Amino acid sequence: MDKSSSGRGTQRLYRAVRRLDSPLVPGPDSPPPLLIADVQRTVEAELDRIGSVIDELGQRFAAAGESLALVGGPVRDAMLGRLQNDLDFTTSAHPDVTEKLLTGWADAIWDLGRAFGTIGAKKGEWQIEITTFRSETYDPSSRKPEVNYGDSLSGDLGRRDFTVNAMAVTVSGSDRHLEDPYGGLVDLAQRVLRTPGAPEMSFGDDPLRMMRAARFAAQLGFTVAPEVVAAMRDMAGRIEIISAERVRDELIKLMCAPYPRRGLQLLVETGLAQHVLPELPALALERDEHHRHKDVYEHTLIVVEQAIALESRLDPPGPDFVSRFAALMHDVGKPKTRRLLPDGSVTFHHHDVVGAKLTRKRMQALRFSNEQTDAVAKLVELHLRFHGYGEGEWTDSAVRRYVRDAGDQLARLHILTRADCTTRNQRKADRLRRTYDELEARIDRLSQEEEMAAIRPDLDGNQIMEILGIPPGRAVGEAYKFLLDQRLDRGPMSRDDAEAALREWWAARA
Ligand code: ATP
Ligand code: MG
Repeated sequence: MDKSSSGRGTQRLYRAVRRLDSPLVPGPDSPPPLLIADVQRTVEAELDRIGSVIDELGQRFAAAGESLALVGGPVRDAMLGRLQNDLDFTTSAHPDVTEKLLTGWADAIWDLGRAFGTIGAKKGEWQIEITTFRSETYDPSSRKPEVNYGDSLSGDLGRRDFTVNAMAVTVSGSDRHLEDPYGGLVDLAQRVLRTPGAPEMSFGDDPLRMMRAARFAAQLGFTVAPEVVAAMRDMAGRIEIISAERVRDELIKLMCAPYPRRGLQLLVETGLAQHVLPELPALALERDEHHRHKDVYEHTLIVVEQAIALESRLDPPGPDFVSRFAALMHDVGKPKTRRLLPDGSVTFHHHDVVGAKLTRKRMQALRFSNEQTDAVAKLVELHLRFHGYGEGEWTDSAVRRYVRDAGDQLARLHILTRADCTTRNQRKADRLRRTYDELEARIDRLSQEEEMAAIRPDLDGNQIMEILGIPPGRAVGEAYKFLLDQRLDRGPMSRDDAEAALREWWAARA
């Protein structure tokens, strides 16, 4: 970064500080703000790391009289020290020119939608997308923005969703320059999401951006600026014009992020959840049957977090949408099944089955794959089954049925059942955990035993009789047992080896 850009960053700091008219309320787990100087050092180091790629590309475009800038996600992530392999660029060049400039340099080039001005390329480990500057005009009656090529970088940045996503680093040869017309650097250091223009205008242009606010809050752990939250609240209903698939994709990213609670709470508090996932706000009305002081909504958020903490048990470990979404949906059957008894207690009979149905319906409406829908619905349906285990009263056949019904979701069912314990009574929690440990150990033991039980000697009774020339009788049983021991001791044998071992045993016995 050259001197002028850091100087302008400082100016912007003052402007942005003045702009903070309403106080931001960081969450209890919010990390402290970053220092601008640290962010600048981080971004320089990250850009040096990819220096060869951006410098070479920058030179090619500059030689053709076109401007090129790294833009959006990768600039933001470089500032946070988490730049990945995806490099998005914006350019003055039209797609045909971009394609020519990439030819002979990139390992592969493809068209990502010429109508939208995007060309994709691969160079070494880098996935590159280069999009012509855009400026969009909107027809208020149309759902899709009409894409027009723009003629300036600042125009292109102005139509982006959040200030932290509206920064670019121009690359022209080895000269790099930060373009940050909306104070994204300061917002990033403050860990706050703002829109470049008025949030109402931005969300009116593209309501999906409201979902993106929740997604980035969950991914980055950032606070959403109060005026942005207010606009989300006012305009939540506009999300209805967005396709289910696009909403679904943001929901998946939100759930797989490091802080799903932040995103989910924002969806509920702004009323967006009422449109995209109404089962979730409905939980806020319900009291938990065991601990009345805690509502089912808060219980659910804790279960999601506890499920995340157990993901190392999965193969492969790591963010698992199905496991997290099952944790989120496990109690959605409660509002419908709630019954107040005369003694003042509450029951939720069959909320597992009802919840599984509601889950299936919601996931179908959001156009999830059948595979994901079946998996989550199955987990919701089975999440209570373990509670019939008591102190270990299940017969082996009940344990086998549990394993068979869970099928390929068994590892996730273990996680969900363990996570679904939010009692503050430590002794009770310990007891449940120990009982589940026992159940898992029993499942392991049983499946080992059954594999053992499935093991047969290398020769069967008929072959034994034929080889030894003996009729049915006790000797055949003894021979069979000898061969089974050999099989267990030595593992599988060839037919010849098994026959030799059998003859040797027979000779020694006689
Ligand atoms: P990720 O790491 O998830 O890819 P990203 O910031 O790159 O994060 P993308 O969805 O890939 O997010 O979008 C790339 C960039 O395009 C964003 O950083 C943002 O500048 C812009 N953008 C994407 N979608 C929108 C939208 N709906 N409205 C405005 N700008 C958008
Ligand atoms: Mg991206």
